[in-house]
Order: sequence, then structure tokens, then C-alpha cells
Amino acid sequence: MATAFVTGITGQDGTILAGRLAAEGIAVHGLVRSLEEAAEHREHVPTGVEYHVGELTDHARVAAIVRDISPDEVYNLAGISSVAFSWQEPVLTGEVSGLGAVGVFDAAWRHQEETGRAVRVVQASSAEIFGRPDRSPQDESTAVRPITPYGAAKAYAHQMAAIYRDRGLHVATCIFFNHESTLRPTTFVTRKITHAAARIAHDGTGVLTLGNTTVQRDWGWAPDYVDAMVRAVRHATPDDFVIATGHTHSVAEFVEAAMRHAGVDDWERHVMTDQALVRHAEASEVVGDYGKARARLGWQPTVPFAEIVARMVDHDLELVRSGL
Ligand code: NAP
Ligand code: GDP
Repeated sequence: MATAFVTGITGQDGTILAGRLAAEGIAVHGLVRSLEEAAEHREHVPTGVEYHVGELTDHARVAAIVRDISPDEVYNLAGISSVAFSWQEPVLTGEVSGLGAVGVFDAAWRHQEETGRAVRVVQASSAEIFGRPDRSPQDESTAVRPITPYGAAKAYAHQMAAIYRDRGLHVATCIFFNHESTLRPTTFVTRKITHAAARIAHDGTGVLTLGNTTVQRDWGWAPDYVDAMVRAVRHATPDDFVIATGHTHSVAEFVEAAMRHAGVDDWERHVMTDQALVRHAEASEVVGDYGKARARLGWQPTVPFAEIVARMVDHDLELVRSGL
């Protein structure tokens, strides 16, 4: 039986990935920050997932876990995943999302050197490494020029992945564009919108306060992106792969689609702008070219924009109707 080690197992992608790998009969081991977190998470994944308590920044602990479980596949998903939060905690973001990733690569490489057993790694990279790109769509050859603390930490990890690849570690990166699901927290704009749309549809009250609604993002469906990671780690050649839909929509379009799906006709009167939520540095348009992933991994997105919005709104309508 193959063994997988997943950091960030309690997050959106980690939860979906753990279910996917367990269903394949793989022994899944996850890094969690406390036993309480493990107990809570156990309810959301199939039985058989084993948890190991540790911080990604504790490199010795990560290395000890890798030695103990001797994984065939390592998925490095842990990190500060919010760009907005990375401005509040730039040092922590570098420590976790930058150095933390290098700790994982190093642990895998050392284990492989010591045992002679191949360890394959995939790094959850990000479109934020491109900053304000000078071309659209972005692909694997787009210049890495981050403009946010999150993007800079991810860029460092991305470049260190290439360095460990040169050193003989099978490490792939998925350059993820935004991807959503019903597990997305409301700190991200999509879930904030669908959550508000459901509330407004339910009782007609409430206000949705947003920052810049003209920015355009390439939003995909998280389970598709998890599938891309599995394909990338199992592909014969480790490489960088842009994982995106190739379509871009503004935040305003997302709001309109969500409100209409929820059945809120007078939605414009429920939406406000707060300058405090407008970010001072960000790309106005983000859209990815996933041609390489399609050609090499046979991967493509399966859920279009309108369906992503509909699934998230329907889920939030269910929650408000059941009083949650
Ligand atoms: P998420 O839901 O925010 O999950 C992040 C995970 O990292 C959580 O399990 C979190 O655990 C864990 N974590 C944070 N700090 C840690 C630390 N110091 N030690 C150990 N674990 C720690 O993120 P996601 O949406 O699933 O994304 C997965 C990965 O893909 C992330 O690296 C993200 O940056 C990257 N990515 C995501 C997107 C996207 O649109 N979702 C786009 C590009 C790249 P706690 O619950 O304990 O905090
Ligand atoms: P990110 O791309 O990983 O930062 O994902 P987010 O969902 O946090 O943000 C996506 C886009 O929505 C960014 O361009 C934000 O500036 C924009 N946005 C506009 N209003 C909001 C808001 O109220 N919350 C968040 N999180 N983003 C907002």
C-alpha cells in the first residue's frame, strides 16, 4: 500500500485530497497543529487517516515524521493561504509558506538519500508568484515577480522546489489560480459573497461590504485542482504546471451571479464598498493558461464559473435554512 504525507490536511484542499487518497486505498498521514484539530477534522474525512502533531516551521519535527512514515508521496499544502493576512503577518508568512516548504523538500530529499527509496513531492504554488504580470494569460514561463508577502513566500518556495529538483528530488509544483468550494472560508471573497447572498435571500436583510469589485480572477473548482496535484506527483517527470480555467471574471460578476442564483433581484442595494478592504497592491487581471497540464497530465477543469457559483450558493442557502 502506498503512503502519502499531507501538510495542510485540515484546509480546503487537504480535506478534499485526504478523501480522494483514502478512497484509493492509500495510507494517508496528515500534519496537524493539535490533537483537538485532528479530532475535529476526523469527522470530515474517511476513516484511516492518521494525524501527526507539529508545526510546519518545526523542521526537525517534519523531518522526524517523514522518517517515521517513509512516504511515497508528499503533498505540501500547509501555509498562510490568504494574501490579505500576509500583509498583517509578513514574517510569519515567510516562515511558514516559504521556509516551511523548504523544510518539507529537505526532509524528503534527506530521507531519499538515506534510504534509497524514492520520495515524490508536490508543492502548492500560486499565481501570486507572478505579481502584476506583463502578459495574459500567464503560463509556466511568465516572469516570477511577486508584489505581496504571500507571493514572495510562495515564489521562494517555488524556486527552491526547482533547486531540489536539480538535486534529484522528484518535486512538482502546481501553480494554482484561485479555486473554491463549499469548504472555502468567508475570509475569501467568493464564500463571503455566497454566504451573504444566502442570508439576504433568506431574510431580506444584511449588507455585503466589499473592496475592489473590478479585479478579475480565474476561479476554478477545488476538487479539480486536487486532482491536478495527484496527477502532477505521479507524472514521470517532475515539472511546474499552471492549474487554472483560462477564464476570468470580475468580483462584481461573481456578486451578480450569486445574488441572481439566490433569487435576490434588488441585490445592488445590499452591496457596499469599504475603502479599507481595497488592497494597495494587486493584479487587476489574473488568468492562467493550463495548456501544459492538459498536454502532459491530461488535466482540464470540469466545472464552469456559473456552476461553481451555483454550488456554493446552494450550499449556503441550505446552511441558513437549517439555522447554521
Ligand atoms: P487553507 O484552507 O487555508 O489551508 C491551509 C492549511 O495550512 C490548513 O490546514 C492550516 O492549518 C495549515 N497551516 C497553516 N499554518 C501552518 C503551520 N504553521 N503549520 C502547520 N500547518 C499550517 O488553504 P487551501 O485553500 O486548502 O490551499 C492549499 C494550498 O494551496 C496553500 O498552500 C495555498 O497557499 C495554496 N493555494 C491555494 C489557492 C486557492 O485558491 N485555494 C490558490 C493558490 C495557492 P490550520 O487550520 O491549523 O491553520
Ligand atoms: P486571493 O486572490 O487569494 O487574495 O483571494 P480573495 O478571495 O481573498 O480575493 C480575491 C479578490 O477579491 C482580490 O482581488 C481582492 O482584492 C478582491 N476583493 C474585493 N473585496 C474583497 C473582500 O471583501 N474580501 C476579500 N477577501 N477579497 C476581496
